[in-house]
Amino acid sequence: EATIEVSGLRKRFGRTTALDGMTFTVRPGQVTGFVGPNGAGKSTTMRVVLGLDAPDEGHALVGGRAYRSLRRPLSHVGALLDAGALQPSRTGRDHLLWLAHSQGLGARRVDEVIEQAGLTTAARRRAGGYSLGMRQRLGIAAALLGDPPILMLDEPVNGLDPEGVVWIRGLLRALAAEGRAVLVSSHLMSELQDSADHLVVAGRGRVVADIGVAELIARA
Ligand code: ADP
Ligand code: ADP
Repeated sequence: EATIEVSGLRKRFGRTTALDGMTFTVRPGQVTGFVGPNGAGKSTTMRVVLGLDAPDEGHALVGGRAYRSLRRPLSHVGALLDAGALQPSRTGRDHLLWLAHSQGLGARRVDEVIEQAGLTTAARRRAGGYSLGMRQRLGIAAALLGDPPILMLDEPVNGLDPEGVVWIRGLLRALAAEGRAVLVSSHLMSELQDSADHLVVAGRGRVVADIGVAELIARA
């Protein structure tokens, strides 16, 4: 089942407490907004879910299992972490083709996600000239490649222009409408309030509020 369960995560980096009991669930068919100031532990939580960081305590399960025990993790979870290193002389499409190949996917799938990400023209240009917004779109295209039931997007709105902000809102809604579980982080509540069904507000490594957006609006 397409869920992410984060339970009692604790993580220290030296004297810094990054996670201090982080606990929440991401459900299928919903966009869960993960909101909190910089340093609240959002990225570390996502890295733990993906098995990229080990927690000191607690656990994270994807569809009831630890990520590292999934047979084909990339087909379960599509993730956008920080818009990673690109080879400047290669095109966006080259990057996606390489990733697709490593997942046993072909060029047809690459061209589908290029269209979905609104990169039809840009994907043919060298990545060295990409704006941050284009790099974000490329990262999102990469996350979508394996058609995963779960998506985790860390600050996808960063660097997007106003058109990109509208685009991502529609994309998030469409992914949830298809029954996917979508976790999307932002340091700004305003970026998520129109696209999220549910908000998990983090501060200092833990959840300070966990509420459905409809309930939040009804109370306001
Ligand atoms: P957010 O994504 O909400 O901005 P992070 O999870 O990136 O928060 O960071 C939580 C805290 O942990 C911050 O104080 C950050 O500096 C620290 N931190 C994260 N990763 C590391 C690391 N690899 N080494 C040391 N400190 C880290
Ligand atoms: P975000 O705000 O999205 O978490 P960061 O700039 O905090 O982005 O983190 C980017 C990368 O740097 C991550 O891999 C994180 O683990 C690492 N990192 C974050 N804070 C520190 C830190 N204080 N010392 C070392 N590495 C860190």
